[in-house]
This record gives sequence, C-alpha cells and structure tokens, in this order.
Amino acid sequence: DPSATLSLRLIPYSENLWLLVARDVSRLLALEQMRRDFVANVSHELRTPLTVVHGYLDMMDGDEHPEWKPMLKEMQTQSQRMAQLVEDLLTLSRLESQDALPGAETVAMAPMLHALGREANALSQGRHQVSIEDEAAVDLWGSTRELHSAFSNLVSNAIRYTPAGGTIRIRLCRLPGGGAALEVQDSGYGIPATHLPRLTERFYRVSTSRSRESGGTGLGLAIVKHVLNLHQARLEVRSEVGRGSMFACHFTADRVRTRENGGPMLEK
Ligand code: ADP
Repeated sequence: DPSATLSLRLIPYSENLWLLVARDVSRLLALEQMRRDFVANVSHELRTPLTVVHGYLDMMDGDEHPEWKPMLKEMQTQSQRMAQLVEDLLTLSRLESQDALPGAETVAMAPMLHALGREANALSQGRHQVSIEDEAAVDLWGSTRELHSAFSNLVSNAIRYTPAGGTIRIRLCRLPGGGAALEVQDSGYGIPATHLPRLTERFYRVSTSRSRESGGTGLGLAIVKHVLNLHQARLEVRSEVGRGSMFACHFTADRVRTRENGGPMLEK
C-alpha cells in the first residue's frame, strides 16, 4: 500500500547484523485521528446546551425560594466548571491538530507579565503575595494567544495549590546560551517526585480530591506541554513536598528577541 505509514526500528541482532523491523501504523494513526475528531466534535456540540443552561441559571437568583439558593449556587459552579472543561478540550484539540505554529509574531513580554500578575491577584483575592520579576527584558517569538494560555495555566495552578499566606513569584530571566525562561514559583503543597513524569498527561492528578476542590479541569498542564512543543520549548518542574513547586518554560535563543529592536538576542 503506497499510502501506508510505516514505523521503522533498527535493532542490533548480533555483532555485525542488524534487524530492520517495519510496522504498518496507518491504522493506529487513523484511530488516533478519529479519537481527536470525536473529542473535538463532542466538545463542540456540548458548548451550546451548556451556554443555555448556564445563562438561565445565572438569571435565577432564588429570591422567591430562599431554600433553593445553595442549590442554585452549586449548579452555577458546576455548570461553569463543565463549560471550562469543554473550552479546555477544544483548546487541546486545536493544539493537537497542529504540527507547527500557523504564524508567529513578537510576543511582548512586559504586557504579558502585567496580565499574569493581574490574573494571579484576581484569583488569589489577596490571600497570597504575588511578585513579578522582569529580569530578562526580552520578548519571545511565537503565538501570544497560546503562550498566554500556557502561562495562565501555570499561574492559576500556583494559586490553587498554595494555601493562603503563601507566595507566588512570576519571573522572566535569561538562560546561558541566549535562551530565556518564564518561571512560576509557588510556596505551596509541592508534588512528590514519583508524580512528576506524568503531570502533563490529560486528567492526571496528584491528589484527586484536592485537585477537584481546587476547581481545575485536569487539562491545564497538557495544554502547557502542547503549547511549549509548538514553540520547541521545554517545561522544567522542580518541587518539594510541603515547600512548593517551580514550573519553568525554557525557550531557546532563536525564540528570544531583545526588547529594543526586535532582532535576535545577542549573547551578553
Ligand atoms: P488541574 O486542573 O487538576 O490542576 P493540571 O493539568 O493543571 O490539572 O495539573 C495536573 C496536576 O498537577 C494537578 O491536579 C495537581 O495535582 C498537580 N499540580 C499542578 N500544578 C501544581 C502546583 N503548582 N503545585 C502542586 N501541584 C500541582
């Protein structure tokens, strides 16, 4: 079949013999595509009914039936959560269907950091100390929309997994060799080392109850990973239980622009 996709593996057999194993993976790829299309279609179909439910729930204040108030409030919270889940699934499908960024632009990092700081403060509602450190004074090259969604996910995780009174530090710094890193550090619960390799899997959660309570969708870090892949960037996670976590997005030098002239960054 000339249109088949083969997966080739070269395996050492003996001292001067190698085995070439060819596997037809066309069916696997087709199934994977079907899975993606299915998730995207279902998510899309759920959007409209959810908007309707959510809209009507918002209009019901329970003034005539005070005993309904807590139930209405819970229904609003849960329908909002479903809507967020649908949006995250759609974002993930969109990211998965791309092999490369459709178009790149200068991603202005000063306004990005300001926006992240505002979001952190809005989520925290004064319960955490949030700091922004713009040490690198560089911009990035890529998609502002996708990078903003990745960084926002890291910031909202930092707030959600850090008890009141903790600190959140958002920092843009340079890396040796001309790269740059956006770091989100928290002083929160931390993550046991055994969980670190699986964190970016869809719906993977360290503590199911805490994560559910925190209101996340379980898709945040999967989105982060896909966005970073599209930018050939890397996610680095360091964490210590009871002391906090640091999620750093490492960008290579070709993604970094000096803020003054927009050209490629030169080594210091
Ligand atoms: P969720 O919506 O559940 O937060 P994510 O994909 O964003 O989903 O994160 C996956 C899991 O990783 C979370 O459920 C949580 O257990 C853990 N996690 C993510 N960020 C942090 C953090 N800053 N501190 C502690 N645990 C975290």
